[in-house]
Amino acid sequence: MLNIVITGAPGSGKGTQSDLIVKNYGLYHISTGDMLRAEIKAGSEIGKQAEQIIAEGRLVPDEVMIEMLHKQILEHKDAKGFIFDGFPRTVAQAEALDKMLAGVGEKIDILLVMNVKHETLVERLILRGQTSGRADDNKETIEKRLAVYTENTLPVIEFYRSTGRLTEADNNTTVDECFAQIKNIIEAHKG
Ligand code: AMP
Repeated sequence: MLNIVITGAPGSGKGTQSDLIVKNYGLYHISTGDMLRAEIKAGSEIGKQAEQIIAEGRLVPDEVMIEMLHKQILEHKDAKGFIFDGFPRTVAQAEALDKMLAGVGEKIDILLVMNVKHETLVERLILRGQTSGRADDNKETIEKRLAVYTENTLPVIEFYRSTGRLTEADNNTTVDECFAQIKNIIEAHKG
């Protein structure tokens, strides 16, 4: 298996680059944001619990996310690999992910962070809000999501960096230029 974690701030292009990775490498895409939006649409219990939290730009509780992810891993054990997009967002989620993968004899192969300047993130998210229909792509919630990212997710990234496992892509670029960097990282890993 080839297992990739793609992380970075809201608006850093994780979804777009994940789609390209899926197209080129055939990995199974797990986007926790997409999963939660599907739960909301379906009117499920999880969806009901998550709707307000997402609209306010806060994080859905770790237990809910970890259970959701665990189910996906078990259901898709036969995939060529996973791309985890939007997970882990907290240190507890990062620890749980290592354990869940170990449980199926797997590990994270590539930890990738997308680096984008703050003002570019805000611009991109506001632009996306004009067509995405997402309740959280508005100025106030965007700032909240970026603050939540700094508080909860940056420590995860700093932890990964401190273990020497982090690879970085600059996405103050075009989609193609960023993907070229990611391809180099994946090819270097495959050796
Ligand atoms: P995203 O589509 O990744 O930007 O996620 C949209 C929203 O879903 C986030 O702002 C959170 O409210 C929620 N969410 C997505 N992934 C997670 C996660 N791993 N942990 C907690 N909340 C999450």
